[in-house]
Amino acid sequence: ADDAAAPTDSQHSPVKPMTGTEVKVNVSIPAAAERAAATGADGVGLLRIEHMILSTDKTPTRYVEDHGERAYVDEIVDGVRHVAEAFYPRPVRVRTLDAPSDEFRQLQGGEDEPAEHNPMLGYRGIRRSLDRPDEFELELRAFARLYELGYDNVELMLPLVTDAEDVLRAKTMMQEAGIDPEKRDWGVMVETPASALGIEQLCETGIDFASFGTNDLTQYTLAVDRNNNNVAGRFEELHPAVLDLMARVIGTCREHGVATSICGQAASKPEMVQFLVDEGVSSISANIDAVRDVQHEVKRVEQRLLLESVR
Ligand code: PEP
Ligand code: MG
Repeated sequence: ADDAAAPTDSQHSPVKPMTGTEVKVNVSIPAAAERAAATGADGVGLLRIEHMILSTDKTPTRYVEDHGERAYVDEIVDGVRHVAEAFYPRPVRVRTLDAPSDEFRQLQGGEDEPAEHNPMLGYRGIRRSLDRPDEFELELRAFARLYELGYDNVELMLPLVTDAEDVLRAKTMMQEAGIDPEKRDWGVMVETPASALGIEQLCETGIDFASFGTNDLTQYTLAVDRNNNNVAGRFEELHPAVLDLMARVIGTCREHGVATSICGQAASKPEMVQFLVDEGVSSISANIDAVRDVQHEVKRVEQRLLLESVR
């Protein structure tokens, strides 16, 4: 029943608005798709793949050992497709696997995952994916299948990239898996200071978008562990150092025609919305319960900008 509910060709080419900052929604699990779609959001700014895998209670390696590669790919295809269907033709940005090793270690098969002193600075996101091409290839195969099924509203997002080399290696693997980067919308998360400082080189890799993961960008810029209560008072997404990096990224991306977005928790803070709309961000993706407030805030700031421009 793979293609039973696939959109037809005539429905292709998701509509892109001509002006304004779009407001999107984050979807943590596929079961939340309908509720998320009902918010009227302009699309999904972040759909996390890892929950589709972690919910099976097995590491990717153990899952494939027990059920086979095809079942692993199906698990991802089914989860993403549920969301892509609920939002079609609105775009759905799907992030490749990004769970730290300590989360994998709690699962069946976890004893074979690395035990790390500091998982947040370790083996996660694109680093793990590039180090385990066999595992990453299965994820990419799931994307290729979704495109075959007609879900051209699916976008591919790479987490925790450091530099252009990370992106180019992933891009090559996408091509090997049958995904045409020229034809599909794909991009990166800006979560490391290195990726923000090197945004020009990242833009030159051919990405369509860059999305701020402010949970991590704040943690790494301020050297404040996002899970450490002792320094929780120092975790400030609106810190000038974080905002300075973000402003540079938005400016450079605009020069290169690369869309910008935010999908970290700070997206629901009015001050962050004001800052981003002022800087000219393309979209803001918030949690389901915050979408309405963010929509209002965006409208308010855009009206102010419009008034200022005619004065
Ligand atoms: C972020 O870092 O802001 C983000 C959205 O990713 P995660 O919270 O999953 O690390
Ligand atoms: Mg992150």
